[in-house]
Amino acid sequence: MRALICGAGIAGLTLAWLLDRMGWDVQLVERANSLRREGYMIDFFGPGFDAAETMGLLPRLRELAYTITELNYVDRSGRPRAALDYKVMFNSLDGRLISLLRGDLALALYERLSQRVVQSYGCSVQALDERAEGVTATLTDGTRWSGDLVIGADGIHSAIRELAFGLESNYLRYLGIHTAAYTFADPVLRKKLGEQFAITDSVDKTVGLYPIRNERIAVFTAHRTRDSAIPADPRTAVQATYSDLGWLVPDALAQCPDPPALYYDQVSQIEMPRWTTDRVALVGDACQAVSLLAGQGASLAVAGAQLLASELANEANVTHALSHYTKRMAAPVADKQAAGRRTAEWFLPSTPRRLLLRRLALRAMALPGLDRLLSSRLVAGAGGIP
Ligand SMILES: Cc1cc2nc3c(=O)[nH]c(=O)nc-3n(C[C@H](O)[C@H](O)[C@H](O)COP(=O)(O)OP(=O)(O)OC[C@H]3O[C@@H](n4cnc5c(N)ncnc54)[C@H](O)[C@@H]3O)c2cc1C
Repeated sequence: MRALICGAGIAGLTLAWLLDRMGWDVQLVERANSLRREGYMIDFFGPGFDAAETMGLLPRLRELAYTITELNYVDRSGRPRAALDYKVMFNSLDGRLISLLRGDLALALYERLSQRVVQSYGCSVQALDERAEGVTATLTDGTRWSGDLVIGADGIHSAIRELAFGLESNYLRYLGIHTAAYTFADPVLRKKLGEQFAITDSVDKTVGLYPIRNERIAVFTAHRTRDSAIPADPRTAVQATYSDLGWLVPDALAQCPDPPALYYDQVSQIEMPRWTTDRVALVGDACQAVSLLAGQGASLAVAGAQLLASELANEANVTHALSHYTKRMAAPVADKQAAGRRTAEWFLPSTPRRLLLRRLALRAMALPGLDRLLSSRLVAGAGGIP
């Protein structure tokens, strides 16, 4: 059996590894010129954690992980106004939580790929021709690929989705927030930040600064805006939007790079009535984006890829396997998307009153009894795939 996977991200790398192990002939095409290692800190828990355990990936992820004990919410002068105790979250997930950079998760998956997987970087798919007996793809390097299955693992703005299912606007639900992330090295700023993971305690917009290895800092930003359009100059937009937040933010903004080192996107979800045709399947954010608000997109990308691989292993008829995959995955994803939308106000309070309520809730999380209750709401829908 032959598969073409478009996108060497979390879902694509997972699936390439698993299909290759099953004896499939796999080609992986990625638009970027090399593996995308840039990124932001993710909390990895829920179904993806379970899948990674089954795949024997946890020891490597633990090596790459960061130990976060608490997340401080700081005011303009850098004084903590509240804190999220990670121990409480960790306990409410029975310790099944790893914090690591998205790029390090991608690296751990990439390291598993055998020489057999053909990898083409700086390449994408520009046309698909689906027939009953198979599918042919025309790649942007001019070559043609033919085989049994094309997988769109190319993220929230998936080209495969557009080719097989039509316009993105039919499926994208914009959540009214833009986000950006980058990393930089600055020993002086790194010393000022120390070992604390911190985020601004602010209305409508926020900047987080996380100390990472090699004296670097990972910056993460989010702000509310009705306009879903990505600015023409994301770097200037980031610098202008967050410049008034005080603390170490202006210094961190001065180090903001241009794309692609700067990740910038709208915060959205993808909702589709079906994720597969007879010979094309979508996996990860391409069909099931839950957004950073749900904090489980990478987890679901790994879990979805594992589920798709196991359905293809159990069922010789590709079309039937694809339909089982969608049936099992769609409802849990819809739950997590709804849970994600409910956390928007927690994540980015829209008024001073809501900001105050978040501070109070964070304090209440320190109280025995309330700790598990409140933290389990934060990791809502951490349950697995039936
Ligand atoms: C700020 C932020 C914080 C987050 N926090 C968390 C968290 O705490 N926990 C969590 O689980 N998730 C989190 N997520 C979500 C998570 O990062 C995504 O859901 C996850 O990366 C999706 O994996 P994917 O493989 O589907 O897509 P991606 O990781 O986006 O990979 C898609 C790949 O396809 C490539 N590609 C795109 N278009 C094409 C094309 N036309 N042709 C070829 N290749 C293409 C891209 O270059 C990329 O390599 C967060 C996201 C953000 C933005």
